[in-house]
Amino acid sequence: MADTLPLDEDFSVQDRFNSLSNLIGRTPLLAVHLRWRGQRRVVYAKAEHYSLTGSIKDRMAYNILRCASESGALKPGDLIVEATSGNAGIAVAALGRALGHKVCIYMPDWMSSERKSLLRSIGAELHLVSKEEGGFLGSIAATEKLAAERGDVFLPCQFSNRDNCGAHELQTGQEILKQLASIGKVPDGFVAGVGTGGTIMGVGRALRAANSNVAIHPLEPSESPTLTTGYKVGAHRIQGISDEFIPAIVDLSKTDSVVSVSDGDSIIMAQKLASQLGLAVGISSGANLIGALMVQDRLGVNSTVATVFADDNKKYLSTDLGREEPVKPEYIAPEVELIGFEALQ
Ligand code: PMP
Repeated sequence: MADTLPLDEDFSVQDRFNSLSNLIGRTPLLAVHLRWRGQRRVVYAKAEHYSLTGSIKDRMAYNILRCASESGALKPGDLIVEATSGNAGIAVAALGRALGHKVCIYMPDWMSSERKSLLRSIGAELHLVSKEEGGFLGSIAATEKLAAERGDVFLPCQFSNRDNCGAHELQTGQEILKQLASIGKVPDGFVAGVGTGGTIMGVGRALRAANSNVAIHPLEPSESPTLTTGYKVGAHRIQGISDEFIPAIVDLSKTDSVVSVSDGDSIIMAQKLASQLGLAVGISSGANLIGALMVQDRLGVNSTVATVFADDNKKYLSTDLGREEPVKPEYIAPEVELIGFEALQ
């Protein structure tokens, strides 16, 4: 494992946090113009690949580590240990290393090879957990075992840590409100695929505080619903969402209905965004755009619906995102005619 950084008075913990904060969040809001079912539409998506490590998870990693550092739960020299399907690990590893910590990541072994190489390249010690060893739940159990064995371990616990939601309530949600207000709009709906649920719960809270009628829709893959079943029923190809359980920070009594989107449809949508608009986003972004259109259909064609493009496509080019995806008659993406986008700062 890579060493901790030497303590240096030119780079205090505070200075390191302040520098990182300038590189995280404040992402553009894209107004994506398209035609669907004969109607001209606009939906809004935060371009989260603009953040330091290229995903929405920088926000949660930063807020959890900063809050923990301020409360004393994270001490200089602590080993940071997290279970993750990828983006969270990349964010925790990069931020942890920049703050001078050693980082150890547990991850299911079926995640893309790019994710594994990236984690190793940024100095994380990577432990892969097979399906037989418990997959995602096995990864979480392994982090808890390590923390029980050693006194110097900090567990961000992204699935149960409220500072994950706090990042999105205080930042992502406020940014969406401000960026929409700059063009005279208030959100009528928000949709986001649920991994930890930090995005949907945190942004949901921020938007509800501004407009109590806003529709907040969690999204999950139709091939492997978790939120509507309480457990994982099958395999799906939208890395980063619908892991194997309902995370502790998810409270479905505070949201509207769960939107269900097929992984193949999501892949085609992400491929179209890349090839037609040059917006090279990941699979969950394709799912979120489809989900936003489904919610807009319910709220009205002129409603203001926002979502997130959680990351870019670089980590998925070796997966089905980089191959031709067979079209099924029920898919939405093939019917969507993309027109263009405006980027709001
Ligand atoms: N999309 C991708 C690509 C992700 O990595 C994640 C995080 N696991 C999500 C969506 C879901 O975000 P959240 O954990 O805030 O629910």
